[in-house]
Amino acid sequence: MDDLLQRLRHFHTDFFPQHQSRFQSLVTDGQHPTTLFIGCSDSRLVPYLLTGAGPGELFIVRNVGALVPPYDGLHGLHGTAAAIEFAMLNLKVSRIVVCGHSHCGAMKALYEEVPAEAKNLRAWLDLAREAALPVQVTPEALCRTEQRAVVLQLERLMDYPMVRERVEKREVTLHGWHYVIEDGEVHVFDVQTGQFLPASQSEHSGTGPYQDAPQDAPPDEQSIFNEIDARWGGR
Ligand SMILES: [Zn+2]
Repeated sequence: MDDLLQRLRHFHTDFFPQHQSRFQSLVTDGQHPTTLFIGCSDSRLVPYLLTGAGPGELFIVRNVGALVPPYDGLHGLHGTAAAIEFAMLNLKVSRIVVCGHSHCGAMKALYEEVPAEAKNLRAWLDLAREAALPVQVTPEALCRTEQRAVVLQLERLMDYPMVRERVEKREVTLHGWHYVIEDGEVHVFDVQTGQFLPASQSEHSGTGPYQDAPQDAPPDEQSIFNEIDARWGGR
C-alpha cells in the first residue's frame, strides 16, 4: 500500500474517531475561527503545532514568503487577497497573524537569480522586494530581511479597507511573527519598539498598528516599517 493511502486510512480509523464530536459540531454550527493565519508555505512551519490550535480555530492561507498582495488587485488573481476579504467580511476574525520564519527560501531568493521560466514566482517576490537590503546576503541580513518582510505585509494589510476599518475600531489586532525554526520559538513584533522579541520574553503575542498599549498612544501605522529599520541602523 502506498504511504499516502496508509496515512489517509490512519486518519480515518485512528484520529477521526477521537475528535468526531468536534468535527460534527463544526459542521452543524459552522466554522467560527478567530484567527486568520497568513504563513509561508515552508514545510517546516506548522501553524497548528505553534499555536496549539485544533480544528475550527485557524483560518489559514499560506503562500511563498507569507506575502500579502495589494488590495487593488492589479497584480492579477489572488487567492490570498480573497482569503483576507472572506476572513474579515464573512468570518469576522479578530486577529490576523503574518508568520515568516528563519531560513526562508523566498527571502533568500530576493538576493538570487530566479529562473526566467518561473515568471509567477518572480512577480510574486516583488511583494517583498522592499524588504531586501543592498548588501551581500549573510545569515544576519537574511534574518533582518525576513523580519522586514513581515512588517511590510502588516502595512499592506492596512490598505484593505475592511482590515483598516476594523483595526481602527479595535475589533481586530495584527500580529507579526518570525518563527526561528532551529530554536522552536516565535519572535513577535512589538510596534512600540520596532523590535521582534522572543515569545518567552514578550508580554504580548505581537502588536501591529493601533494596538492599544498601556502607556502610549498608538503609533502612526505608516511608521512601523521605519521603526524596524531604526533598530538595525537604517537600510
Ligand atoms: Zn519561507
